[in-house]
Amino acid sequence: MLLVDPRGRNYLVRLTPGGTFHTHSGIVGHDDVIGAPEGSTVLASTGRRFLVVRPTLSEVVLKMPRGAQVIYPKDLGAILMAADIGPGVRVLEAGVGSGALSMAMLRAGASVTGYELRSDFAERARANVAGFVGGDAPYRVEERDVYEGIDERNLDRVVLDLPEPWRVVPHARVALRGGGILFAYVPSITQVAELRAALDRGGFALAETSEILKRTWHVESRSVRPDHRMVAHTGFLTTARRLAVDESK
Ligand code: SAH
Repeated sequence: MLLVDPRGRNYLVRLTPGGTFHTHSGIVGHDDVIGAPEGSTVLASTGRRFLVVRPTLSEVVLKMPRGAQVIYPKDLGAILMAADIGPGVRVLEAGVGSGALSMAMLRAGASVTGYELRSDFAERARANVAGFVGGDAPYRVEERDVYEGIDERNLDRVVLDLPEPWRVVPHARVALRGGGILFAYVPSITQVAELRAALDRGGFALAETSEILKRTWHVESRSVRPDHRMVAHTGFLTTARRLAVDESK
């Protein structure tokens, strides 16, 4: 559950019978939350009230335990559209990091195989997916280096969030079906340039690169204006389609 204190601070809490949750705003008994209608407020030991709702996927991603940096929700939503992720779509994802993007794709109905270099991150991603999407989600993470190759064939999508996606282009070309989509997320435009050159050489077409700017607003009586601060940059989104022709011949 998501507990929101009177100052708007959020806490992600997994409820267990008899459990307690401690914050600066007081102690909340899990039993006071279990069975209460969603959207209720519960009283903490200090007399302060917490609002209790189920967390959205965005809230989970921002609050869940992380190893690697996660992709922000503003980008996750756009990635689902850019890479056209939907029910039954077969995805190879590398690296998986904390599993935020895995969770978004699984929730959209995809089957995801992940390649991740670090065993601690792989374990973290599996735990996050099992805890927040469900243990029966079509999800498998292998501890391996995607720069060395992809074993899967006839994939619908190859989704990359790692430093040198251009090194994956030759492997993705073999692993993707014709018309399949390669998606890559990189923070620097020089990485985009190198990737785009590799895609042009490597049997891909219809390449596109974009970035997502999200500006939140402060809305309080007559003070209605953009917030002073925003996250100005996260990463660039690039997609391209695998051509059917095998140009290696
Ligand atoms: N998209 C993830 C975050 C990925 S962070 C999320 O939303 O949570 C980048 C990850 O790529 C790191 O975990 C890193 O260990 C992994 N990585 C880097 N190079 C790799 C490679 N060659 N093969 C597999 N994983 C790699």
